[in-house]
Amino acid sequence: MTSFSEITSRTIKFIKSNPQIIYTLFLAVAIPLAFVYTSEKFLKVARDNQDRLERSRIGMLEEAFAFFVRDHLHDAGYVQEQIKRLSSQNQTIMTFDVIGRSGDGKTYPMLASLDESSVGTAVELDGLSRHLMSLARTNPEQSYATPYYNGGIRYWRSVGAILATGTPDVAGFVIVDLSMANTDAIARANVKNAYWVLGIIVILIIILLARQAKVIDYATLYAKLKDVDKMKDDFVSMAAHELRSPLTIIRGYTDMLKSGEKITDAGKGYLDRIDVAAKDLNGLIGDILDVAKLQEGRMSFQLEPLDVSTEIASLVDSFVKPAEDKGLRLLYEATPLPKISVDKTRFHQVMVNLVGNAIKYTPKGEVRVITEEKEGIVSIRVSDTGLGISAEDQKKLFQKFYRVKSDETAKITGTGLGLWITDEIVRQMKGTISVESIKGKGTDFILNFPIAK
Ligand code: ADP
Repeated sequence: MTSFSEITSRTIKFIKSNPQIIYTLFLAVAIPLAFVYTSEKFLKVARDNQDRLERSRIGMLEEAFAFFVRDHLHDAGYVQEQIKRLSSQNQTIMTFDVIGRSGDGKTYPMLASLDESSVGTAVELDGLSRHLMSLARTNPEQSYATPYYNGGIRYWRSVGAILATGTPDVAGFVIVDLSMANTDAIARANVKNAYWVLGIIVILIIILLARQAKVIDYATLYAKLKDVDKMKDDFVSMAAHELRSPLTIIRGYTDMLKSGEKITDAGKGYLDRIDVAAKDLNGLIGDILDVAKLQEGRMSFQLEPLDVSTEIASLVDSFVKPAEDKGLRLLYEATPLPKISVDKTRFHQVMVNLVGNAIKYTPKGEVRVITEEKEGIVSIRVSDTGLGISAEDQKKLFQKFYRVKSDETAKITGTGLGLWITDEIVRQMKGTISVESIKGKGTDFILNFPIAK
């Protein structure tokens, strides 16, 4: 036997894993209920107003009638005519009787009536009429009315006293029955229409829900995808870490072998190649680890005032040899500069990327590093006379893995991660990076940093 608590916990679990049920309940039940509740309230107010209107209309009519016929009570023909005239103008009047004061306390003489056959007879009145008459007798200035049902139709019965001329004595009564059949039918038709509209709304909600369920599916799918993406990132950075140790060993032994004496020239050539490949691989691993760190916000930045000129001068020095190897001129136009607030290691990494790229993508000519300070901003421009980058490629340059595709770049190895990492690092250090380039002429990368306070 499953216990109540077990069923409850299972239900809660089911709802949790299918959150669309909450939406279903809310949209398909709560909204129609709210609609029904407000429309019922609205209808009640409308009906009450209509009743009040009918009641005061019949009251005024009755009081005016009672006033005008009191001098003519002996002239049944005249009263009869007035009744007919009024009734023909008002289709809701069902009965219109003028009765005299009770003769024997039980029956009343019918003085005039819409039902002509009853005129002159003695009529017995029902409890409702007698009750209203007793009220009208105590306050003859006013008519009294109350609703009642007969055969499923709603009526208003109204009774007013007729005073004998010049006396406070009650000479008779006017009793009128008004039918509310028309008013109620119109209200019912409106309710029916409203429920049709509600039905359509519910169908629309169900259609929307079917789509909503899909959206929720997508949301779950998206959450799962994010998990998978995170797992992929974790795996990549774990693999990159693990690759580093054997690579360090390979590079170490390559260095040892190169400095050994019994190695032939050909052997040294092979070792150089191993060294270059190992260096490339090391760079790639470094890039992958940096991407992971930046994405997870794990890269730390120790911002401190840095003398850019000294930093760039030593960095340019380290690139003189590779530039010379390619037959390029590498120039640095040093100007005195105020300090900027950056992480020294990361700033170095940014400059290595930009100067390294400039040399890498410049077949002939020169690479120039130009600095200047203007309005509190230090600008560092890495300018080359290389391949250049088209306006179209410039837009995507800072995206991860983006590499320009052309015959010239096809021969140059790279991952397309360098500029993404550079852009991220520069932004983390409150700087900006931009590019100016003309295809076939050369490229300028411009770094801007505010002066350290
Ligand atoms: P990688 O150099 O590993 O391909 P980067 O992110 O550093 O990746 O650069 C992305 C692309 O931008 C490069 O593939 C290259 O096509 C282009 N690029 C970068 N710097 C220059 C430059 N100085 N001149 C011409 N093209 C460049």
